[in-house]
Amino acid sequence: AAPARLLDTAVFDLIAQEKTRQTHGLELIASENYVSEQVMAAQGSVLTNKYAEGLPGKRYYGGCEIVDQVEQLAIDRVKELFGVAWANVQPHSGAQANAAVMLACLQPGDKILGFDLSHGGHLTHGSPVNFSGKLYQPSFYGVEKETGLIDWSKIKDIARRERPKMIICGASAYSRDWNYAALREAADEVGALLLADISHPSALIAKGLLNSPFEHCHIVTTTTHKTLRGPRGGLIMLGKDFENPFGMKTPKGEIRQMSAVLDGAVFPGTQGGPLEHVIAAKAVAFGEALNDDFKTYTQQVARNAQVLASSFMGMGYDIISGGTDNHLMLIDLRSKGISGKLAENTLVRADITINKNMVPFDDKSPFVTSGIRIGSAAVTTRGLGETDMVRIVELIDETLTHHDNDTRIGQVRQRVNTWLQDYPLFA
Ligand code: PLP
Repeated sequence: AAPARLLDTAVFDLIAQEKTRQTHGLELIASENYVSEQVMAAQGSVLTNKYAEGLPGKRYYGGCEIVDQVEQLAIDRVKELFGVAWANVQPHSGAQANAAVMLACLQPGDKILGFDLSHGGHLTHGSPVNFSGKLYQPSFYGVEKETGLIDWSKIKDIARRERPKMIICGASAYSRDWNYAALREAADEVGALLLADISHPSALIAKGLLNSPFEHCHIVTTTTHKTLRGPRGGLIMLGKDFENPFGMKTPKGEIRQMSAVLDGAVFPGTQGGPLEHVIAAKAVAFGEALNDDFKTYTQQVARNAQVLASSFMGMGYDIISGGTDNHLMLIDLRSKGISGKLAENTLVRADITINKNMVPFDDKSPFVTSGIRIGSAAVTTRGLGETDMVRIVELIDETLTHHDNDTRIGQVRQRVNTWLQDYPLFA
């Protein structure tokens, strides 16, 4: 008997349970989504067996003729999707993409300027617990206490004072659009590179719903699995001045091409063999994103987020910055007298998943938090529209208001489960 034919029930029973969880519940985690059957099929394919260190046409292994075509397809599609001249589709994750960019562009000890983690930034933008804060010298900008908005002129002031080698924009929990032109002015004044990490809103940017970073930022990174609705992974692209921002030369006096430096920073700099099965799944997702119905999806994501935000505010919830331009929002629960941790734990009992999140100027620890983050991408993929968003807010409010009442929470869970039966997820 071939052991490989026996179903590993220990693992597959758990996968089945997770499928049930995803099917029964309302998914409001802003960084999550549901990929298509084709994305999953590509990722679960024989391509997982192949080693392919290098780039299409320049590999360190034989037998790469087919994966070369797969990877080239992913590159060509993503270039068309974002309108860029160069992309590397190999980073295993968003964090890996940012690590490769920093390895390519910075020396250990160089100064970087990023968005404060506790105001909505990401760990890889200079947090002391992350490589970016350990290897480089970070400083941070944040939002204004009164408005919850970034004051672009203040970033200029900080840049003048700190003189960073790199300014990083982009966030995990900022619901407003970015002024890339102002950031570029700040970067140019001090001779810094400008990196935009568009991991969260990348699908909305691809479809023209938000400002484009590509005119102003030298380098752009993104994850592929959030609003973009691909497999878990990362991606690096080059913006406007891409090939040689500062006239960089090699020791031999040759012009250094930024694309080549970035390619080298991904492999061999920070990674080994690329995950060609994941790259195939990225190619499928980019193909889906090139379709017109993906634009309809992104428009609905934005509309749904706006309805969520206005409905929450209508029920007395405090949304940081008073609304959203993208797919997410941060809710400060202090006026409701509950912590983010309690909200997360209570909502999960009603089969509603969100995540606790620090709010700007939070007085609670990251393990407790004063807020929660909510996003509209996954529920939009599921097929829910604006009137459904109003219902979601009512269900959340009911659950949080009765957080110590098991019966009420059980009733909400029942309503969620029954409702979602009309929105089947998997074939
Ligand atoms: N950058 C931003 C802005 C993010 O929000 C995230 C993920 O949360 C990442 C990078 C890291 O992505 P990954 O989890 O794929 O490493």
